Amino acid sequence: MPTVLITGASTGIGRATALGLAASGWTVLAGVRKAADGEALSADLVVVGIGVVAEDALARDCGLECDNGIVVDEFLLTSDSTISAIGDCAHFPHAALGLRTRLESVQNAVDQGRAVAARLMGKPKPYNELAWFWSDQGDLKLMIAGLAHGVDQWVVRGDPATRAFSTFGFRDGKLAVVESVNKAGDHAAAKRIIGTTKTMTPEVSLSRR
Ligand SMILES: Cc1cc2nc3c(=O)[nH]c(=O)nc-3n(C[C@H](O)[C@H](O)[C@H](O)COP(=O)(O)OP(=O)(O)OC[C@H]3O[C@@H](n4cnc5c(N)ncnc54)[C@H](O)[C@@H]3O)c2cc1C
Repeated sequence: MPTVLITGASTGIGRATALGLAASGWTVLAGVRKAADGEALSADLVVVGIGVVAEDALARDCGLECDNGIVVDEFLLTSDSTISAIGDCAHFPHAALGLRTRLESVQNAVDQGRAVAARLMGKPKPYNELAWFWSDQGDLKLMIAGLAHGVDQWVVRGDPATRAFSTFGFRDGKLAVVESVNKAGDHAAAKRIIGTTKTMTPEVSLSRR
């Protein structure tokens, strides 16, 4: 029977991937293995969430302010007001979260490109698009709308055992993120709610399970 070791998976999505693989006949070993423990573990597949470090050497050489990527303002302008930075390398102020972040996703790169194009065409506005992500893992369609920073309450809607469910994350009682597995409808609904004046409380998401 195939064996898979999953490290670095901590969210509902990570658990869903593990459950899905387990249901398909994989043996799932969750947790972090340190090479120092001396144990050799063979695996057919290893899924590791390690993150990335922004490559900002060119920007630094140009004298642009860098801190975990290229620092930009809400209009995606660097410390040189004739240069914009977008995508994976841009460390931008996220209005809804009230902090700076870098996002590594196709949505972020495309929407930030659109924002800079609009500014160059005389229609500047602060970048404030909803972050969303997706990934296909075997027959599991993982989709995320919003960001989980500072989420203080999670509500699971649906049954993870059925391989179709969502986890709703609330920050200060307001819907902040929805992580979905094979639930494209929940993802689409989340994109219509998060960051708008529409509301969904934890109680409502519980009552409609
Ligand atoms: C394996 C993998 C899987 C991914 N899966 C997903 C996914 O499922 N969903 C999702 O939303 N995102 C996914 N991503 C992330 C997504 O691909 C990136 O967030 C997105 O491509 C970022 O776009 P970008 O334009 O900022 O950077 P890039 O797409 O990396 O483009 C940067 C370009 O700049 C060029 N470049 C770099 N340095 C120089 C230089 N000095 N001079 C000239 N050119 C230079 C590079 O060659 C590259 O072409 C994945 C990424 C990887 C690596």
